This record gives sequence, C-alpha cells and structure tokens, in this order.
Amino acid sequence: MLKIEQGVELARFTTLGTGGPARAFARPESVEELEEALHFARDQGLEVATVGLGSNLLVADDGVDGLVLKLAGDLAQSEVVGELLIAGGGAANAVCLHRTRAAGLGGFEFACAIPGTTGGGVWMNAGAYGSDWAAILERALVVAADGSAWRTAEELGLSYRHSELRHGQVVARVEFRLTPKPADEIKVTIADLQAQRKAAQPTNKRTYGSVFKNPEHELSAGRMLEACGLKGHRIGGAQISPRHANFIENAGDARSADAVALMAEARRRAYDEYGVELEHEVEFLGAVDLPALTK
Ligand SMILES: Cc1cc2nc3c(=O)[nH]c(=O)nc-3n(C[C@H](O)[C@H](O)[C@H](O)COP(=O)(O)OP(=O)(O)OC[C@H]3O[C@@H](n4cnc5c(N)ncnc54)[C@H](O)[C@@H]3O)c2cc1C
Repeated sequence: MLKIEQGVELARFTTLGTGGPARAFARPESVEELEEALHFARDQGLEVATVGLGSNLLVADDGVDGLVLKLAGDLAQSEVVGELLIAGGGAANAVCLHRTRAAGLGGFEFACAIPGTTGGGVWMNAGAYGSDWAAILERALVVAADGSAWRTAEELGLSYRHSELRHGQVVARVEFRLTPKPADEIKVTIADLQAQRKAAQPTNKRTYGSVFKNPEHELSAGRMLEACGLKGHRIGGAQISPRHANFIENAGDARSADAVALMAEARRRAYDEYGVELEHEVEFLGAVDLPALTK
C-alpha cells in the first residue's frame, strides 16, 4: 500500500536547494500506486503536483499545501526497445541518454545539457541545441484522477517551453522515437555539447536553469540582463550568476524569496531599459509571489 508522508521538506528535491515542506508527499512506484495517490488527493480535496529532479522549480519557502508526488520504482526506469526509448516519467534524462548511447540510438544527445526527468521535460517541452521533446516524443501516458490517456506531442500542445498539462495530470511514461547512430558518434556529439555548455553557463552551481524565456527581441534574456548590469547582483543568499545573467545561483543560504526578489528586480530593469516584459521559464510550486510590473 502506498505510503503518504507529511511535512517532507522539498528543498532537497530541487537543484536550487530552497523551499518548504509538502503537506502530503508520496513516491508511487507503479501506475496503480499513482492512481491510488491521485484518488487519495481527490478524496481529501488536495491539489497535486509532481516533482522530477526539481531542476526547473522554485518551491515557496512556506511549502506546498497539497500532495506532492515523486515518481519512483517502475515509474523511474528506462529501457530501449527497437528504436524506441521507453521510460517512466520519473526517469532521469542522464540515465536515458546512457541507455540510448549504449543501444546506438541518436536524437537524444541534446538532452545531455538538461538535468531533469522525462516527465519534467514533457511538462515544458524541454529543449536545447535546436531540438526538443516535441521532436522525438512518440507519445506520453498522462494519468489523472479521472482517467489515463496516451497523448502525442500535438495532443499535449507542446511548443516553445510549454505544454498544456496542468497540475494533477502526471506524465507516468514516455516513448521517444530515435534513429540508429554509431555510439562513438553519439559520444563525440555529447562531449561537444557539454563543452559548449560549460563555456557559457554556470555548471557547478546550484541553479534552476534559465530563469526567463527568451523574449522576442534581438537580445536574449541573458544578454539583456547582462546589459542591465545585473551580473553578480545579489539579494540575500541568491545572486545572478556572474557567468550568465539568465541564471540565479544559491550562493550559500538562499531562500526562494531571495530568488523571487532578484527575478522582480531583473524584470523591472528589463522593462525600464528595453520595454520588455520578461516571462519566467522556471515553474513555481506553492504560493510564490512574483510582483506584477509597475508600468
Ligand atoms: C544547469 C541547468 C541547465 C538547464 N538547461 C536547460 C536547457 O538547456 N533546456 C531546457 O529546456 N531546460 C533546461 N534546464 C531546466 C530543467 O532542467 C528542465 O526544464 C527539465 O525538463 C525539468 O525537469 P525536472 O524533471 O527537473 O522537472 P521539475 O523541475 O521537477 O518540474 C518542472 C515542472 O514539471 C512538472 N513535472 C515534473 N515531472 C512531472 C511529471 N512526471 N508529470 C507531470 N508534471 C511533471 C512539475 O510539476 C513542474 O511544474 C536546466 C536546468 C539546470 C539546473
């Protein structure tokens, strides 16, 4: 029977390392246990959210007044079958990449720079280096309290860093269609992409990836915030990366509120200097209050 825990601290499930406790927390290991958790939440009137590797997540310091799920067991496994990678929604991209490389299947190399899970990738159509989940996703099994369905990328509404999924809809499994490629070539591509990433972004700091989506502007979000003089700007224990201005680092003892204050400052400066309203890419969990822009 599925164990429901109370008051589990969520900071350790995020790459930034901030955030408070979940009112209820469970680690379903199968679709049946996942359904059990979702029915429990429905009966208790609790909101549901899933955490992957917490690599695109800012959790409120007050925590989350609902049921938080972390997929485990069978829902975090992955295997290659023919030209398909079949994975649980909680499977780490890094492990999936290892399996595809070993099987001589190419097309997933771009994910070497994305430290999340397959389910988290579906949620926001993760992507890098000209590819994304939408390009390789054959279908995903979405489980909710009122039923389950396999959905294609189109049915999930995948577009730039966006899907139409809502909390309470859990990606339990994914199938990626890949193409045969020699393992040596895959290895070279990965090494090249990782070197590019290391040269441009903070890879050894606690961050949650890109803070803002790139605006429709000649400057990327990072270049714009850099031009606003924000590199290295610090509030409390959080600072805008001195290396890449679209990253916020936990400089030691950050709280989520510090990161939010930095985001508010960055949005204000980008608006004042460029008239651009930056939209956050990071997902919020719990009552995270990013103030509206004063125009
Ligand atoms: C150093 C660094 C570099 C990064 N580079 C990139 C990049 O190049 N490209 C890019 O796209 N992203 C990048 N990211 C952001 C992040 O890794 C991706 O968004 C990733 O897909 C998030 O996956 P996750 O499992 O960590 O999801 P989480 O951060 O845990 O969750 C993100 C959202 O997905 C939801 N979610 C998670 N799992 C599920 C599930 N099984 N079912 C339903 N909803 C779910 C959560 O509720 C939340 O709303 C980077 C992050 C870091 C820290």
